Amino acid sequence: MCPMTLEIIKTSSEESAHACWSCGDMRAAHFCGACGKVQPPAPVDYFTFFGLPKKLNIDAKALEKEFYLLSRKLHPDVYANSGEKEKHWSEEQSSRLNDAYRTLKDPIKRTEYLLKLEGVELEEQSKAATEQARATGAQKKQVVPPALLEEVFELNMQLEEMRMGKKMGERDEQLVKDLESHKEKLEKDFEALSDELKTYWSEWDKLMVRENVPEEDRKQVRGKMVDLLNRRNYYRNLVRDVNEALEN
Ligand SMILES: [Zn+2]
Repeated sequence: MCPMTLEIIKTSSEESAHACWSCGDMRAAHFCGACGKVQPPAPVDYFTFFGLPKKLNIDAKALEKEFYLLSRKLHPDVYANSGEKEKHWSEEQSSRLNDAYRTLKDPIKRTEYLLKLEGVELEEQSKAATEQARATGAQKKQVVPPALLEEVFELNMQLEEMRMGKKMGERDEQLVKDLESHKEKLEKDFEALSDELKTYWSEWDKLMVRENVPEEDRKQVRGKMVDLLNRRNYYRNLVRDVNEALEN
């Protein structure tokens, strides 16, 4: 077993400490550190599954390496001659491994997942926002960020004009140009929001290494990330609308 795996097993066993079903030693999240037998899946979050602290800046290379290592160790071929429960557990662990990896390797999914663990719901998914949109008959599930009101109003006019033109079989080249430059600006703003979000990953990680962090501090950083993610989603949807309108 490589040293990194041992290290990971040590940290994760802190949160999922049970005795190994086979040898009775203290078990790890996936395999017993003493006898190496696969263990029944523990109800842990994806960070804990990989033995990682709940930080947002993660070593993608190390995560990938650990993913492939665990994939190999959980491969069905390895359990061809094992008992039914070990076969079953390795399958369950394997599918959880895939979910955990898919979520953590993507920076945005990772951030959304962490926020979900923290009990935060993003606007796009929140029930209240959906109900509000339904009540007003709006297409969008999201509320327009106040700073964007004017821009979105103008953009929607242009989009409507473009759609009308399409129905009539006309294509206003000036309008196309305007929409394209609008889109370019939206994409730039989208990138800027992504960069800004990264700064809050570091803010969050700093909190994670401190002891007795006041809830107020966590709440503040979470709030910033939620706001940025919501705005980011909003821009993404606008770009999608423009793309649809520009399609021939
Ligand atoms: Zn064991």
